[in-house]
Amino acid sequence: MANLRDIVYENVREGELYEELDDKRVRCFACGHCCPIPDGRPGVCQVRFNRAGKLYVPWGYVGGVQCDPIEKKPFFHAYPGALAYSFGMLGCDLHCAYCQNWVTSQTLRDSAAVSPPLKVTPEGLVREALDNGAKVIVSTYNEPLITSEWAAAVFRAAREAGLLTSFVSNGNGTPQVLNYLRPWVDLYKVDLKSFDDRRYRQLGGRLEPICDTIRGLDQLGFWVEIVTLLVPGFNDSEDELKRLTEFLVSVSPNIPWHVTAFHKDYKMTDPENTSARDLMRAAAIGKKAGLRFIYAGNLPGQVGELENTYCPNCDELLIERYGYLITGYYLTSNGSCPSCGTTIPGRWDPSFQGQITDHPVRPRLRQSSFSLLVPEGS
Ligand code: SF4
Repeated sequence: MANLRDIVYENVREGELYEELDDKRVRCFACGHCCPIPDGRPGVCQVRFNRAGKLYVPWGYVGGVQCDPIEKKPFFHAYPGALAYSFGMLGCDLHCAYCQNWVTSQTLRDSAAVSPPLKVTPEGLVREALDNGAKVIVSTYNEPLITSEWAAAVFRAAREAGLLTSFVSNGNGTPQVLNYLRPWVDLYKVDLKSFDDRRYRQLGGRLEPICDTIRGLDQLGFWVEIVTLLVPGFNDSEDELKRLTEFLVSVSPNIPWHVTAFHKDYKMTDPENTSARDLMRAAAIGKKAGLRFIYAGNLPGQVGELENTYCPNCDELLIERYGYLITGYYLTSNGSCPSCGTTIPGRWDPSFQGQITDHPVRPRLRQSSFSLLVPEGS
């Protein structure tokens, strides 16, 4: 029986985001590492590899699927209430000690990370998304940049079926991958995990490519929302949050910033869980920096008005939330404030369509769309 590595290495096709170098080496452009990869070796992410001078990339499977409210991704300024059919593959270019999706993201790095993949076609995945009532299909759970070719194929089929598309990403991109994705991705969420390069190096990345990606996404016209998981003692100093939020304002004060609560997970169990007071302190720093839309997440009902959207001009309540549940929707049909007419940045439907769910739901996996690729020992 095949082991997980065999499965990952067999379900591939030649990638599109690379260049050939001398001596059968290649350079991959799918993420900010831009790995030069010798023949017979994988890149840092472990799931893209060089075979005889060509780069092979993951294809034809998912590590998991789930139906989420779009508020969970989180997008608060894009189609409120929509169902986001979410799929992941396997692997990541970072190795965050507090990863909440480590079972899929740390495949082939951590022997405990075993998630049996499901074989599926782009058309099968889109059919499942439609059957579950989704409006948006999302590449998430592992780092979608490292599986961009597969996501683009799924999104091509999704567009033809009238679905919107999204990445939930660590933002460690390159100009090449952003231009590659631009025709196929509507909504893009970036985890801005810190504003300290030393911290990013602990997680396996660098700050600069992530800042460049956020600037690039905004310039290329993706709808962008940013999340910072606030980890006490790791990224929550006043100075760091001031610099982080001033950077976001320099890109655009209209970018929604979600500051969310950490809880002990995976290998990071020392810091205390984030309190509502910590979130409110961070939100106040972002507001002072000039951000117009700030949200506090993961502690429903404990953060006062920081779950709602207000008009930045007249303070009118526009969207009221409790966790992922929309409890009030007052935007006009063209996405403006009903009180003063200010246009609220985002992607809005003409009216609120209701919610299929306000919590994650596991979809039924139809045998006609999926088949299990079972690794040994799982
Ligand atoms: S996706 Fe990133 S980590 Fe993986 S091979 Fe390409 S450049 Fe390296």
